[in-house]
Amino acid sequence: MTRAISLHDVSKTYTRGIRVVNRLSLDIGPGEFLVLLGPSGCGKSTVLRMIAGLEEITEGDLRLDGEYANDLLPAERRMAMVFQNFALYPNMTSRGNIGFPLRIEAPNEDPRARVDATARMLGIEDLLDRYPGQLSGGERQRVAMGRAISRHPSAFLMDEPLSNLDAKLRNHLRAEIAGLTRELGVTTVYVTHDQAEAMSLGDRVAVLRGGVLQQVGTPRSVYALPRNVFVAAFIGTPRINLLRGLVRAPLDGAMTISLGKQYLRLPEPLSLDHQLLRVQQGREVIVGLRSEAIRIAKRTSARPGEMPITGLVEHVEFQGHEVLVHFNTGSRPALVPDLEAPRPALRPTRRRRRDGTVLERLRDRAGSLRAGPVVVLEDPPDSGPEPTPSDPRLPGDLVVRTTPDLDLRRGMQVPLLVDISHLFVFDQHGERICPSPDHLPDLGE
Ligand code: ADP
Ligand code: MG
Repeated sequence: MTRAISLHDVSKTYTRGIRVVNRLSLDIGPGEFLVLLGPSGCGKSTVLRMIAGLEEITEGDLRLDGEYANDLLPAERRMAMVFQNFALYPNMTSRGNIGFPLRIEAPNEDPRARVDATARMLGIEDLLDRYPGQLSGGERQRVAMGRAISRHPSAFLMDEPLSNLDAKLRNHLRAEIAGLTRELGVTTVYVTHDQAEAMSLGDRVAVLRGGVLQQVGTPRSVYALPRNVFVAAFIGTPRINLLRGLVRAPLDGAMTISLGKQYLRLPEPLSLDHQLLRVQQGREVIVGLRSEAIRIAKRTSARPGEMPITGLVEHVEFQGHEVLVHFNTGSRPALVPDLEAPRPALRPTRRRRRDGTVLERLRDRAGSLRAGPVVVLEDPPDSGPEPTPSDPRLPGDLVVRTTPDLDLRRGMQVPLLVDISHLFVFDQHGERICPSPDHLPDLGE
């Protein structure tokens, strides 16, 4: 038995009227694997706990297979939860732990056969007689999965089940979870703050920020057509480059977006999307460039649709199979509040105001406005004259991926080509305007 789970305008208020989940609507199909993705504190666990029945729904409806379910007891929902901290009974063996929910449900039946079958499925037969204290983290999480699977639940609810494990094990178990839940065909809601995990696991990904749903779609569609700068910046590594630009659309000349002292000329004839940019004339926009939209090459080797700029090498990050080069193009990056590790990391400066630096105040503001702006276009303090390679304020505004054989060093001025067909443009509020928001994701799915 597997279930459709629907949330209609669901909100949650714990205290003082602050909505930690704000009018969330989401339809999860039977057998679907949906990932709830967002930074820490955005309300993911709260949503999961409301689905499980562990937390009361303040407003809105939860429906299970179309039936109103707000008031069902957790046990009546027949869902199995897997948590980050394993939560096994320390005084029971793995067999005892896996069989526990079965013994509660049917005290007169011998759970042995079901426990054995579950253990076989997870490849943990030889762990059945051990106690949790005798298991590694990964083994404990497998036993916890076993306990969730053994009672044939109607849905799995998983709350960051892999985040306490080391990277290698996490990747391994991630693949196992993906295989297992699909094999069982059980609806799964999986919570994580790790975008790579979300992208690799989900049939669809729902991106939350400050309790508000930003976008829901297949991993490909949220990557290719992020609705706003928050989604664009949260999804994808290396993080998308977000530069503040100004649209110039003279009546008699080529349309450009200036990025500091440089500019991108939009190729003629203008695409429909670029024609729509004309209304932004004279306004500040945010240009989004994923690393695949930029390559290191001379302007003479430009292909159609590629436009030249130059960048000053600030930092070269060796990754083995590739190198990430941090450039300074002299443009100003856009700040996206709420991201776990903002990049570029502007350091606090000497000049302090009574109530902290501008940046600190922006951060505070971002924290207090739960569903506030997705982007902040205010000048950081001390945005003085020309940046130089030794300037600690600007660790680079553009990250480009390249092969390790290129010998690049700090201080070099390097020609870059920007592929305009991969250009994102967001308005001052951080909403995507190019590709056009009406653009239907046609991703061959
Ligand atoms: P996430 O799982 O995305 O990290 P949570 O759902 O745990 O986020 O929390 C969302 C917000 O609700 C946070 O600001 C958190 O502090 C708050 N919160 C969570 N649980 C409670 C609670 N029991 N009482 C009051 N506030 C809570
Ligand atoms: Mg949580």
